[in-house]
Amino acid sequence: MTSRRDLISRFSAYSPHVDPLPIELAWDFAEKAHARQSRASGDPYITHCAAVAESLVDWRMDLPSVCAGLLHDTIEDTATTEAQLRAEFGEEIAMLVLGVTKIDALKFESRDDAQAENWRKMLLATAKDIRVIVVKLADRLHNMKTLTYLRPDKRERIAAETMALYAPLSHRLGMFKLKSELEDLSFSYLHPAEFAEIKSKVDARLAQSEKRLEAARAEIEKVLSGGDIPCRILARTKTLWSIYKKMERQKKPFEEIQDALGVRLITDTVANCYALLGIVHTHFRPVPGTFTDYISTPKLNLYRSLHTTILSAAGDAVEIQIRTEEMHRSSEYGIAAHWRYKTGEQAKDANLEEKMNWLRQWMEWLQDLNSPREFLDSLKTDLEFHQVFVFTPAGEVKVLPEGATPLDFAYAVHTQVGEACVGAVVNNKMVKLDHPLKSGDICRIVTRKGSTPKKDWLTLARTARARSKIRHWLRERGLIE
Ligand code: MN
Repeated sequence: MTSRRDLISRFSAYSPHVDPLPIELAWDFAEKAHARQSRASGDPYITHCAAVAESLVDWRMDLPSVCAGLLHDTIEDTATTEAQLRAEFGEEIAMLVLGVTKIDALKFESRDDAQAENWRKMLLATAKDIRVIVVKLADRLHNMKTLTYLRPDKRERIAAETMALYAPLSHRLGMFKLKSELEDLSFSYLHPAEFAEIKSKVDARLAQSEKRLEAARAEIEKVLSGGDIPCRILARTKTLWSIYKKMERQKKPFEEIQDALGVRLITDTVANCYALLGIVHTHFRPVPGTFTDYISTPKLNLYRSLHTTILSAAGDAVEIQIRTEEMHRSSEYGIAAHWRYKTGEQAKDANLEEKMNWLRQWMEWLQDLNSPREFLDSLKTDLEFHQVFVFTPAGEVKVLPEGATPLDFAYAVHTQVGEACVGAVVNNKMVKLDHPLKSGDICRIVTRKGSTPKKDWLTLARTARARSKIRHWLRERGLIE
């Protein structure tokens, strides 16, 4: 377990101008409040509080978040009151602890609708402060790491919930490292036999692939060492869960799953990312169709990198991701990497507003949804689909899932535009309302006053937003159930 002193010195390392005294106080407060409690493992309860705070420090969260991590179970599990926390630690920290407590109070009974309903309420209730969700994720991570001490039925329920809700959420927040960790932990409890099998096979294969990876790495290093672009090279390994999913999806045994080697090149500036890409493509044969530029068009969850696959001299396909240090941090820690502006020691991130925008937008969509089923579907859709970037005639870009139609676009522009939509002009050509939009399309929606949504639109629209708006309109007029 991390000590109080370790935690504070690690926090101060990235927040030199913040007085860490509240962390010290919060630690002592939590230790005292939980004094008579222990974890299922038999460890003193404070070990859990410390582990949660430690994750938050790993993710470089701000002072109130770290304090809330230490205090997160005090209201729920001890005699501590909200008023007490407010008096001792102030409004902000008390509010964060209360937010986490509210989430904990929601019981996810079933795997499906009821769970999604609670989940949705939770998100809506806490959307005001994303830090509540980040603290909750740190809490869940430690609970997953200590799941072995619980009863088997409880273990399975919590693992299933983590897989269905928390792993996708961390993905959505761009916290990829956490997502992989949660998935592999859940996997080990949900499918123990498959997990053990893949793990032993991966370990066995590792020795061999490590040699090949090292060879490819050395080749790339040699090519790059000639130039004067700063660059460090990291090896990348697949998670056990992603291998399992691939086996399921492709219906292939482990042995037939292609073991692509992965390498990350990390440099200082965006210009150098493209420079590195140029060097790599000059010296190695790129595999056609594998290049994707997530720097000029980031994913919805803010992920940015250049992706390409090349062939090494030995004929191995090597997946390469090129990014700056900042992008690397973002992709490991996601939204948490952007949260520090509040500490005041750093200039406010100029893009922060933009970065937070998608989250707000997402929350907005959720509010429009009526049933848990719709919500669950939308969550899946929004997570799994690839994206297209479509422009309004004025040059404003709308991000839509792949396969989105002009109807989705119309509703993305404005609900009233969607409702009065009678046609669409894409790249100066009239198209049907089921026309799939592509990235770079310029789309103009034709509206007519008094025109209204049709029932068959529900089959034409692909996005959760458009479908829920259409359904809402039809339902209000009794045209559907
Ligand atoms: Mn907890």
